[in-house]
Amino acid sequence: MPDIIQLLPDAVANQIAAGEVIQRPASAVKELLENAIDANADTISLVIKDAGKALIQVNDNGTGMSDTDARLSFERHATSKIKCSDDLFKISTKGFRGEALASIAAISQVELKTKKENCELGTKISVEASEVKEQEPCTTSKGTSFSLKNLFYNVPARRNFLKSNAIEIRHIIEEFQRVALVHADIAFTMYNNGNEVFNLNKGSFRQRIVGVFGNKYNEKLVPISVTTDVVSVEGFVTKPEFAKKTRGEQYFFVNDRFIKNAYLNHAVQNAFDQLLSKDQYPSYFLKLTIDPSRIDINIHPTKTEIKFEDERSIYAIIRTAVKQGLGKFNISPTLDFEQESSFNIPLLKKTDIIKAPIIKVNPNYNPFETKTMAPPVRQQSTQNWESLYESFHKDSEEIIQQNEEKEEQQLISSDWENEEQEEHNTLIQLHQKYILTQLKSGMLLIDQQRAHERILYEEFSRNIADGKASSQKLLFPETIDFTAADAELMSELHTEIQNLGFEIKKVGSNNFKIIGIPSELKEQNIKKILEGLLEQFKLNESELKLKKWENLAISMARSVSIKSGKKLAYDEMKALVDQLFACDMPYSSPSGKKIVITLNLEDLNQQFES
Ligand code: ADP
Ligand code: MG
Repeated sequence: MPDIIQLLPDAVANQIAAGEVIQRPASAVKELLENAIDANADTISLVIKDAGKALIQVNDNGTGMSDTDARLSFERHATSKIKCSDDLFKISTKGFRGEALASIAAISQVELKTKKENCELGTKISVEASEVKEQEPCTTSKGTSFSLKNLFYNVPARRNFLKSNAIEIRHIIEEFQRVALVHADIAFTMYNNGNEVFNLNKGSFRQRIVGVFGNKYNEKLVPISVTTDVVSVEGFVTKPEFAKKTRGEQYFFVNDRFIKNAYLNHAVQNAFDQLLSKDQYPSYFLKLTIDPSRIDINIHPTKTEIKFEDERSIYAIIRTAVKQGLGKFNISPTLDFEQESSFNIPLLKKTDIIKAPIIKVNPNYNPFETKTMAPPVRQQSTQNWESLYESFHKDSEEIIQQNEEKEEQQLISSDWENEEQEEHNTLIQLHQKYILTQLKSGMLLIDQQRAHERILYEEFSRNIADGKASSQKLLFPETIDFTAADAELMSELHTEIQNLGFEIKKVGSNNFKIIGIPSELKEQNIKKILEGLLEQFKLNESELKLKKWENLAISMARSVSIKSGKKLAYDEMKALVDQLFACDMPYSSPSGKKIVITLNLEDLNQQFES
């Protein structure tokens, strides 16, 4: 037998290794920014085109490289940052593996220009798929500039797996923020498709946070500062009243490196104790400084997780530090946390959209099929009602029960219509949350918020699809200032948001002028609606797999629907229920939650008998 083992050519080995280090454009951005910081730059700019798919460029004014170093930098395990294994225990730079540039060069077309301070000329190198195409002297200023074009151009499987531009740019912005936040002594700019996204001057940590997340952040921040032998903790948490419904801005930095750590996150959450309810998350920006020999940053290739020697003490110190900070600023619980903001959306006039309920017949339904035991719908309703409930539990009979469920639902719809004609509807609001109504066959309990979400969702979906939503002009157009990340998302969703009936114009890098709003929105708190819309959109995006329009319609419906806790007048309840049963899918909310519970009269009678 001949020997069959061969060493892989470098280009192939690098391409394989690249999969570990560079998963998406944002990973390349992170590596390049970190290299610029390690090179002691104090001004760094990031230029992105097409969410990094066309171009990622990072320019710095750091030390620069010699001709030979420039060429060597693309080799695997080529690094100037550590020399021997002992150095691994006292790492003070971001990089140390010498893998990033080799990986990047294996999967993109790279141009590097670099010059050291006292050299007259710099050097320019072009590399493609690990191969140096050209190296020549060039005129350039002190520092280094990397341009990566067409990331993954030679790994189609990877390229095809990249997400939409909206998602990729958000990852890039997130990486940029992680780096920029903790290096307030470096000036950063970021451009996307020629638009300035960030322009951050050198300053304090507080100024940097405000620079990244907007002026309003200034009043939200509570300083935290504790120094112990084990660790020092410096930074800010946000006041409880600014807590979010999603885990928004939560940043831990250890020795100026962003990390994720669920255990330490718990320490902060825990310090807020009674100040927040379970589904509220504080934002925080905490810098931990620890002796590098007491942590191990070597355990994860992308290095957002690190191991502490002394995790329990650090937990206790963080918790105490945050508690103290909150205490010092006399932050006491505010009472109205539970109060959901609700918008006074007038329910559409009944005449607007009422359609006859659609009765769909299931052609496969065989009432005589003994195996299914499924009785004809209108005769043995008791069993039907039961199976409606049971269908939620019994998987094996799922299909049969789904059929029954559908027919049951049609029954409810048509019952509702009949009742309506007879004009003796009872509608009672319970706990400002549910609507109780009477049918010939029993009662319905309807979740008001979910019902309204369903109605709006169907309407918004139609509007996004055909772009025919009616819009009303605002008497006083309002300009809203978004965070850079949200502004990017607004731009990305511009067409769909217009289709919903908003008339919006971008007027500054992060500012949008709201000229018109969907005519359903009477309430003028446009800012809150739009911010709620974006927050919900991001949450859905991370938790559900939805198409863009679908997510937008759900998020918008969620953002503007009437909420639990809102008192409804009879007419409003009537319109709500009418509209609900005119929907294509009145029984579950857009995110799949139950809207209607049925209480069968015969069941009730039986219960009173026993
Ligand atoms: P690492 O950062 O782990 O050392 P990289 O592959 O990212 O590995 O970079 C390889 C080497 O190239 C670095 O060690 C550094 O010497 C040099 N280098 C990379 N980027 C820059 C830069 N922007 N300025 C100066 N030198 C750089
Ligand atoms: Mg590096």
